[in-house]
Amino acid sequence: MTTNHVDNDIVEKIEQAGLVGRGGAGYSTAKKWREVAKAKGRQKYVVVNASEGEAGLFKDLHILKNHADLVLGGVVLALDYLQTKDAYINLNKKYHRLLRLNLEPRIKECNDRGYNIKYFIETPSYIGGDETALLNAIEGKRTEPRLKPPYPSISGLYGCPTLVNNVETFYNVGCVAAGIYARKRYYCLSGKLKHGGVYHLPEDWDIAQILKETNNYPNFDFFVQVGGGASGMVYDQNQLAGRPATGAGSVEVFDKRRTDPRKLVLRWLKFYQEESCGKCAPCRVGTFEVYDLAKKHKHVPWPEMFAILETMEATSFCPLGQSVIDPIRSYYKNVLKLA
Ligand code: SF4
Repeated sequence: MTTNHVDNDIVEKIEQAGLVGRGGAGYSTAKKWREVAKAKGRQKYVVVNASEGEAGLFKDLHILKNHADLVLGGVVLALDYLQTKDAYINLNKKYHRLLRLNLEPRIKECNDRGYNIKYFIETPSYIGGDETALLNAIEGKRTEPRLKPPYPSISGLYGCPTLVNNVETFYNVGCVAAGIYARKRYYCLSGKLKHGGVYHLPEDWDIAQILKETNNYPNFDFFVQVGGGASGMVYDQNQLAGRPATGAGSVEVFDKRRTDPRKLVLRWLKFYQEESCGKCAPCRVGTFEVYDLAKKHKHVPWPEMFAILETMEATSFCPLGQSVIDPIRSYYKNVLKLA
């Protein structure tokens, strides 16, 4: 059920619950809401980001399929708190097709009460997960990130203060308001395991416990990629105790003996080559060069590859180009133990 009364205490409740963003950055939700409330502008906007543009991430789809009322409840609370009516729900084309019938009656119910909640249907892209790139896309501009600051909470959609939160954050706000928030988070488990899927488990469990409690702990030598099938860091099986599934909460399991390092590195590099938005030269050129270099060699040319990746890390405009090195360097160091 969505709510239509102004809950003035909602930010205190969010703060007490310790909510942080679930899109990857982990920023305090209460702090972000207060920043938008304080910012001056002719208009304020709320944007729900369901841009899961990376392999291994599918929790937003699960939440919107199963808990759309709680998500929209959170959106309405944000709109009331910010004293505005205008919200966009960002869905890629596939999610829109899968969720339309479920979401439309609920959005209509809100809009019949005076809200103006619309979809923004995005061409699937990884950079669309960056909140400023998403705002550009909604404005009809190229989907590429903006220079920050100013942050969207001060100058976001059409230059107005804008609250951008992930689907899971609005779901959690809905749970806080309903008194059912239980300090859990959603985890996407995928790869070489028996019971892959979306799980809702305590937020303080480490990766080893998550795999054990879901009956997924492998009986073969394995390693994992955590936080996204492209950008996530890679850890060996003996590094999982005490390590939370940070970022977007995904864990992909790989069979160590059956994973070809060259194929895996090419998978990551191809993704980045296709997803680079092209705005800055280090990433636009670097993603092509490093992929071509790896493709030309029978074995991974580690030193030459790291020379390009380190330059990209130091000089790219946004986290996409800066982080191409992360999965590769952590795999090299933690799993192959070559450093
Ligand atoms: S780093 Fe890559 S994705 Fe980011 S702005 Fe530059 S070209 Fe675009």
